[in-house]
Amino acid sequence: MFLTIRTTGTAERPATDLGFLLHKHPDKAQSFTTAHGRAHVFYPEASAELCTAALLLEVDPVALVRRGKDKGRGGAPDAALAQYVNDRPYAASSLLSVALSTVFRSALRGDCQARPGLAGQPMPLRIEVPALPARGGPDLVNALFGPLGWTSVEAVPVPLDEEFPEWGDSRYVRLALEGELRLADALRQLYVLLPVLDDAKHYWVAPDEVDKLIRAGEGWLADHPERKLITSRYLSRRWSLTRQATERLELVRLAEADLLDVEDVDNAVDETTDTEERPVPLAEQRREAILAVLRDSGASRVLDLGCGQGQLVQALLKDVRFTEIVGVDVSVRALTIAARRLRLDRLGERQAGRVQLVQGALTYTDKRLTGYDAAVLSEVVEHLDLPRLPALEYAVFRAARPATVIVTTPNAEYNVRWESLPAGHVRHGDHRFEWTREEFRNWADTVAERAGYTVAYLPVGPDDPEVGPPTQMAVFTRTDTAPDTAPDTANDSTEKEAKAA
Ligand code: SAH
Repeated sequence: MFLTIRTTGTAERPATDLGFLLHKHPDKAQSFTTAHGRAHVFYPEASAELCTAALLLEVDPVALVRRGKDKGRGGAPDAALAQYVNDRPYAASSLLSVALSTVFRSALRGDCQARPGLAGQPMPLRIEVPALPARGGPDLVNALFGPLGWTSVEAVPVPLDEEFPEWGDSRYVRLALEGELRLADALRQLYVLLPVLDDAKHYWVAPDEVDKLIRAGEGWLADHPERKLITSRYLSRRWSLTRQATERLELVRLAEADLLDVEDVDNAVDETTDTEERPVPLAEQRREAILAVLRDSGASRVLDLGCGQGQLVQALLKDVRFTEIVGVDVSVRALTIAARRLRLDRLGERQAGRVQLVQGALTYTDKRLTGYDAAVLSEVVEHLDLPRLPALEYAVFRAARPATVIVTTPNAEYNVRWESLPAGHVRHGDHRFEWTREEFRNWADTVAERAGYTVAYLPVGPDDPEVGPPTQMAVFTRTDTAPDTAPDTANDSTEKEAKAA
């Protein structure tokens, strides 16, 4: 089983940087023991212009059968010979995928300490797998790799016997992918799609395969047109796992739609204004406004609820007065991006000790969120269905109950001022609603009164005399008047929360 990865170099980036990304030195041939045999990594060519890494897996067919037996899948006696005489040692398949993930573990994760920044860059890649079992043939290969950003996907059927073309094609193709991709993305695609094409998984599918699939599918699987087939084949058609994975991918897809984010829309709109100097993007104005209020409030321990990709967390980290910063989001992908943005893995101990990213849903009370000075909900409430707002209100204002709560949300009245926004439309596909100034105040006044807070309103962005500012902000300050429900009676049941609120 054989796979090659080739890249070309540029003036700033020699091709041999591939060695840093793969964590395998181009001048050395190395061997590794994997579950199914020896894996060898070597470089047939390694110059500044051109560098090719090869992964060769020498499968031990006997070990393969033994492992099968160990797991109680020895098979019927008449299948015994087939177990020894099969294509596993020669064809790229799920075994190669396991070897990939073992030998290139850091590369798959996109970690590259020696050349930080390199792993995040797309690079020219050519990946070849000379013999890839592909049930579904070249058409399926194209359907699977086609939508993933490659400029060329080539799958040529391998004839059963070159000397007897009339025998027709085997079930193997020679695969060649070419394009500009991040190496980690390319490897994660192969890790999932090689076994999907092979469609004969060699090991028992364990429940944690769903986690592996979701992780390896980050950024490309959730909205792949063939995600159903990929999920079902990858999980060997175990329907309960497939259903679980499908549901989780759907959540990921929705959260990722969120990630298109207000920021993109606001910025796109900003570009349409025809001023000499580039105006400060609205998202940045919002962050500055939030920081100013937080500084005024004297807060040092701050929650960023629905932190998204972590821009505010990053800004908070730059100011030492904020000693403890917790970003919370329901989207794992958002948190992954936030962690990368913050370079959490590379922060010094002191800095790292100030920040924490937590996965959680804001419509559930969460003990981890109690005892903070301030909480920010920046462009978050409009992402919740209206009937879920009382649950959020309970979780934030009754259970977590920080001294200051800052809520920002779009002002729907201002939408007529966005030239690129058709009348009557919301700014972002995932906004469940957008409020006028009056609607926002009605909500916030009620919340404040019920929970024992006072509330003040601030404009963010140009305050239009007619329609108001593009972003509206409410600053809640806790009064010591006890609310009608004590926070420590908070119950984890959302139904109760909703009713209580
Ligand atoms: N606060 C950021 C991101 C706003 S986008 C900013 O101002 O730029 C809205 C974010 O809220 C998304 O990241 C989304 O995943 C998150 N979100 C939506 N509903 C949520 C919920 N119920 N619990 C936690 N986070 C939620």
